[in-house]
Amino acid sequence: MRGITILGATGSIGLNTLNVLEQHADRYHIVALTANQQVERLAQLCEKYQPTYAVMAKAEAAEELSSRIKRSCPNTEVLGGEAGLVTVAAHESVSDVMAAIVGAAGLAPTLAAANAGKRVLLANKEALVMSGQLFMDAIRQNQAELLPIDSEHNAIFQCLPTDYHQGLSAVGVKRILLTGSGGPFRSVDIESLSRVTPDEACAHPNWDMGRKISVDSATMMNKGLEFIEACWLFNAQPDEIEIVVHPQSIIHSMVEYIDGSVLAQLGQPDMRTPIAHALAWPQRMSSGVQPLDLFAVGRLDFERPDFARFPCLRLAAEACRRGGTAATIMNAANEIAVEHFLNQDIRFTDIPKVIENVLSRNSIGSADRLEHVMQADQEARLLARAEVEMCRQTNKRQERA
Ligand code: NAD
Ligand code: MG
Repeated sequence: MRGITILGATGSIGLNTLNVLEQHADRYHIVALTANQQVERLAQLCEKYQPTYAVMAKAEAAEELSSRIKRSCPNTEVLGGEAGLVTVAAHESVSDVMAAIVGAAGLAPTLAAANAGKRVLLANKEALVMSGQLFMDAIRQNQAELLPIDSEHNAIFQCLPTDYHQGLSAVGVKRILLTGSGGPFRSVDIESLSRVTPDEACAHPNWDMGRKISVDSATMMNKGLEFIEACWLFNAQPDEIEIVVHPQSIIHSMVEYIDGSVLAQLGQPDMRTPIAHALAWPQRMSSGVQPLDLFAVGRLDFERPDFARFPCLRLAAEACRRGGTAATIMNAANEIAVEHFLNQDIRFTDIPKVIENVLSRNSIGSADRLEHVMQADQEARLLARAEVEMCRQTNKRQERA
């Protein structure tokens, strides 16, 4: 029986993972469930799954959880803070770690899982984007396994030959075709984008996800982060990846070979498919996902990405090519900008402005040590907060005028 820790158990990926695990209770033992500060939600999951450990990232919330589940979960030990997350990610009774915390907060525990040689099921793309070199080195040096959960990367993984680590051209791959739906604003009037609300941005046409990744999908920064994620995961050069807009989200990505073959992975837009694939790998197991009905789908469309409408795509591709801490800085600025857009402090169209200004005001350093990465992340966050404040002032002046 395999032991699993779910980092970010109360989120969209975490709950989908629990749903798949429930269907295969004979194969997995749930060692730990973690959440940020939602005590009641984690308490209910503990009562249902009786894990060995429950961790609240906010240390104050751990005490509250401890007294809340004392009677209902007598065998669950409650831990708190980043140290608690790291403990359960590297614990000896754990074989698999689902890394499903959103944002840079997931880096330390995900890296701890890699350093402890675990099978890392990676949903937390921000961790890889901010410190790709360090993360991939940790996986290799500790014989950890890295299986992508992001639907596109899971699709690419399924379409690649097993020896892709040698480099794509060495195994006959010409390029990766990374698909994306284009999000909720693919075809709305471009002038209206400055007035869209957080709820409109989070109303994704095909996928039901957490709010941060939903906004990223609306700006297409999500596809930009995924472009960088694919470079690291598959040892690909930026020129070996092409973004293809595919509004139906049925093809989850493709791999083109030098003989002209293009392999694609298709399926319902339901994260339980990539989750079940990675959990069972190299075998297969059921996921509870409805079969794909091609007759109901009817047609598949493809478009070129619109870089004018989605400046975040260009910013991410540039950061990827620049290397070093450019992606770290971009990711940090994006996290701050999205948080403030969700709080209605800035406009949707301010998000790329904040990121671009932070990138242009920061010097790009080397990203081969964790201290450098963390420092670049912190400095970019400070700068981004200042940029957010400037946007707020400008917007206020414009509204008064
Ligand atoms: P979500 O917002 O639904 O859940 C996030 C989880 O992380 C929650 O359990 C929350 O408690 C925890 N968390 C938040 N802040 C934290 C902090 N500071 N410290 C510790 N824990 C914290 O997000 P989600 O949609 O499940 O996405 C999770 C990750 O998976 C993201 O990196 C996202 O890009 C990636 N991803 C999600 C989907 C999807 O369909 N939802 C698809 C592909 C990739
Ligand atoms: Mg994705």
